[in-house]
Amino acid sequence: MSDVAPPRDPIFACAGEMAERCATYDWSGSPLGVPASWPQSLRTAVATVLRSRFAMTVTWGESLLMIYNDDYIDTLGPKHPALGQGMPETFPEVWEDLAAQQDAILHGGRSEYLEDVPFVIERGGVLEERFSTFCSSHIPSDDQDAGPGGILTILTPRTREVVHAKRLALLNALVNRTSLGNDPDSAITACLEVLGDAPSELVHGCYYAVEVDGGLTAVRDFGTSPKGLAAADGPPLLASDCMRDAATTVVHRQGRPLVALPVRTRDRVAGVLLLAPHPLRLFDDDHRRWLELVGEQVGQVLGAATARSDEQARLAALAQIDSAKSDFLSNVSHEFRTPLTLLLGPLDDALADPDGSLSRPQLQVMLRSGHRLLRLVNALMEVARLDVDTSTDPARRVEPVDLAALTRDLVLPFEPAAVQAGLMLATRYEETGVVGTDPALWESIVINLVANAIKYTPSGLIEVALTVRDDQVVLRVRDSGVGIPEDHHERIFERFHRVVGPDAPSVEGSGLGLSLVAEAARALGGSIDVTSEPASGSVFTVVVPRSPVDDDRPVVHHAGLGAELLAKDLVRALDRFPDDAGPDDGHAPSAPAAGRQTILVVDDNQDLRQHLTEVLAPLGRVVACRDGVEALETVAALDRSEHPATGVDLVVTDVSMPRLDGLGLVERLRSDPRHAAVPVVVLSARAGPEAA
Ligand code: ADP
Repeated sequence: MSDVAPPRDPIFACAGEMAERCATYDWSGSPLGVPASWPQSLRTAVATVLRSRFAMTVTWGESLLMIYNDDYIDTLGPKHPALGQGMPETFPEVWEDLAAQQDAILHGGRSEYLEDVPFVIERGGVLEERFSTFCSSHIPSDDQDAGPGGILTILTPRTREVVHAKRLALLNALVNRTSLGNDPDSAITACLEVLGDAPSELVHGCYYAVEVDGGLTAVRDFGTSPKGLAAADGPPLLASDCMRDAATTVVHRQGRPLVALPVRTRDRVAGVLLLAPHPLRLFDDDHRRWLELVGEQVGQVLGAATARSDEQARLAALAQIDSAKSDFLSNVSHEFRTPLTLLLGPLDDALADPDGSLSRPQLQVMLRSGHRLLRLVNALMEVARLDVDTSTDPARRVEPVDLAALTRDLVLPFEPAAVQAGLMLATRYEETGVVGTDPALWESIVINLVANAIKYTPSGLIEVALTVRDDQVVLRVRDSGVGIPEDHHERIFERFHRVVGPDAPSVEGSGLGLSLVAEAARALGGSIDVTSEPASGSVFTVVVPRSPVDDDRPVVHHAGLGAELLAKDLVRALDRFPDDAGPDDGHAPSAPAAGRQTILVVDDNQDLRQHLTEVLAPLGRVVACRDGVEALETVAALDRSEHPATGVDLVVTDVSMPRLDGLGLVERLRSDPRHAAVPVVVLSARAGPEAA
């Protein structure tokens, strides 16, 4: 017996695993028989396939027995080795689709060229979708009796390329379709829509936003969440782990991966994107890298949208500041114009008249106007000082202050005003000791609250109480005055806000006082509160910290000039406004002199009323009223008078007035046929184009 191996059949005489397998395969038990007996066409085809560098297979005879080369092994995956096995047994999962076509080719039909054909094969119990481009052609048999011949198939594996193209398209869609979101929420919605549009790659996704407290909230999802992962149950552990580690985190559920990706905007993790890839996709490094790119892209979209919405918010805030500034300027100019008119008007008149001189009442008006201007300038300087932001260096103005002594000094000058107004002013000061605070801000608080209490209390009692409560000092100013309607309680602390309306008191003011008080209280680290009821009175309570002082500078307990000035002004103002004054300052309209026109002057500012009356007096009889309501009453009184035909000939009215303003007055006059044609001149210190 010789142990020399028989010579290898020349068709298998080439390198490679499959040549080796073919050479050693026991063909005698196969329907093909031993290679030497094969038809020449089969032998040539097999020799060609084994030597080719393309993935190729020959399938022969009715049972389509397979002979393939090394490059085809990858396509078979775990089905390899399938040498000598029939095609139908090797690919049962796709055979239904292939059978008719393969049968036609086997029997001499047209060659088939098919691109990127998907087929699902099983690898180790897991199904995977793969893609191939292949060309199958008939191999005729040279032995007519041996059967129909076979099929030569040349195949290009395309799974990588096809899947890459799908993934690239999805990334592109993320870039293109999500770049317009203007806020983080719509950006995330758009991203998840795009991801949800690719069910062949992703079957479920959920975005969890990181909240301020570090918690996670599910905000959007798509597809069907895998079992045990319902978003409604709150964020799964996986998402929490991902956020904690700020790194891609993967778990497997029923053999399939679930991937949590940190979504970063600039330098922080803004959320976690949980994705369940399609179960037919192989989860390899490429796949994981692609999912990470998706997470990064969502982060970029979200970051850009957040930046855009921040920018919009910044622009809106700037626009608001700008408009607040314009309002402020317009309000300020308005406040300046009235006293300036009252100063300059009489001066102009006196200079225009060669014998002109100023009467004592005129000089008094001018002096009062000058004081009003001074007070306004002081208030504005205070506004500016508070605007400069005391918080940048709050300690700079802190001085040792005996708050009780200072408060007493500040309230004292108001006593004459209270007496003048027929009010009782009760005070109580608990010893506060020396406190570290800003005396100018405290002065602003005390004098504005006390002045308001006097201004807005027609009769009764005003109480000022300074008490100590643990480490706080409490100032309470209570009055039995007109009170403030509930819906104004917050707004009275805004700059220029005044209570207007039919029941509002007709008292002059700029609307700056309480805003200064509130800002000063805040700057001192304290707060202000109001309780008030219309017709019963108001209580303003300011609480500031009783901060200790740790230096030996002299103690401040003198009031500045502010209290004196304001109190004096108040005395003058009260002197000017006996509260029972009626139309024409107490004079009922008298019968008009024959041939003289009747002019109605309507203005809430007493001095301006006086000035207008003097200016218009040469033109006719002037009747002055304090607001729209008084003007209407006067008009009605004139109608009832003995000379109805001579009624009102001209109305000159201010715009802003308590109870009924100028525009309201015009409306009421126009709606009454008797006065619809009366000429009305509307005066306003608001000179901006928007006012026009
Ligand atoms: P001003 O008194 O110059 O109008 P403020 O800012 O001091 O401005 O007050 C704003 C508004 O709050 C006032 O116009 C008035 O309507 C209301 N107000 C303030 N203090 C009182 C008070 N003690 N009683 C009733 N109303 C008040």
